[in-house]
Amino acid sequence: MLEAMLPYFHERFGNPASRSHRFGWEAEKAVDRARKQVAALAGAASAAEIVFTSGATESNNLALKGVWEAYRAQGNHFVSVATEHRAVLDPLRHLERLGARLTVLPPKEDGLLDLGRLREAILPETILVSVMYANNEIGVIQPVEEIGSICQERGVLFHSDAAQAFGKVPVRVVAEKVDLMSITAHKVYGPKGVGALYIRRGIRLAQQMDGGGHESGMRSGTLNVPGIVGLGEACAICAREMGEDANRTRALRDRLLARIVDQIDGVAVNGSMEQRLPGNLNLSVRAIQAGALLTSLPEIALSSGSACSSATPEPSHVLRAIGLSEEAARGSVRFGLGRFNTEREVDYVAARVSEVVSKLRREAPHIL
Ligand SMILES: *Cc1c(COP(=O)(O)O)cnc(C)c1O
Repeated sequence: MLEAMLPYFHERFGNPASRSHRFGWEAEKAVDRARKQVAALAGAASAAEIVFTSGATESNNLALKGVWEAYRAQGNHFVSVATEHRAVLDPLRHLERLGARLTVLPPKEDGLLDLGRLREAILPETILVSVMYANNEIGVIQPVEEIGSICQERGVLFHSDAAQAFGKVPVRVVAEKVDLMSITAHKVYGPKGVGALYIRRGIRLAQQMDGGGHESGMRSGTLNVPGIVGLGEACAICAREMGEDANRTRALRDRLLARIVDQIDGVAVNGSMEQRLPGNLNLSVRAIQAGALLTSLPEIALSSGSACSSATPEPSHVLRAIGLSEEAARGSVRFGLGRFNTEREVDYVAARVSEVVSKLRREAPHIL
């Protein structure tokens, strides 16, 4: 993938928006090829339905704000779910401040959306339903095709943030009746700062980046050609290796879970184990502060159930939404496995986590 990107940093430095010379054509050809690679992995009908952005955050903003501006004469109401990424919830809250109406549905205890509740939430003035394809914390895969059918029946648009699912499990926007889908390159082993929005043909969006009218007027700004080439290549690799990757990753994930459950008591899985990304494991460990566990394991890239980036770490809104207590959410750890992990690493992680959990519990038995 890096080799595919490199020429576009130097000898092929053309701007795809330059239509009058060879250098521009060369860059345009590379972008067209990447557009086809992304469209193919998304199951889109045409490459023209892919608009390049800086990542899933921008794609979500373009989809939600772009729909609101373009369709608000027809309705003013959005439906979403409490377990969405902040890159969906925050733009929706922003629109709410501007006058939009918003219904945020609670998920079931397994993290899945209750379809009956969704049906009830869609009103005559609803313009769009936004439900993520797979969750970034608990890995739960939503019933996207059923949601797509409900939205189509009721005549509302369906947006899905697929940053986590794209490239990991088969995604087919046409068959699943997804109208708008956000993706990002760095979650499929591609470069950071580049992504795309799938926009079903016929949907008009108000562009959020005004300017030169690039990307069919949906997103102005000179394209990040090396990044886009990298995203395209990453998609082509996923298309070839997704099935095998998924089987291998799932086996590693299940091995990790088996070892941890074997060595530590008081462990519970958060979210559905059946409808789940192959590389995700999210566990609540009784009588443990995930933060302390992570600090003791700096050699392992784990995540806690809290948004540690903030000054006062709040327990995860996802874990709270599926019914975990504040303590259980604070004792939750997320393990992410991928294409390059090995059995040896899994066994090492299980052993080290068990060791540290025992030590922490010995040191602070009063919270047991
Ligand atoms: C990572 C992620 C994002 C943000 O993607 P960026 O490329 O960093 O903007 C949005 N939604 C979900 C579900 C994600 O996992």
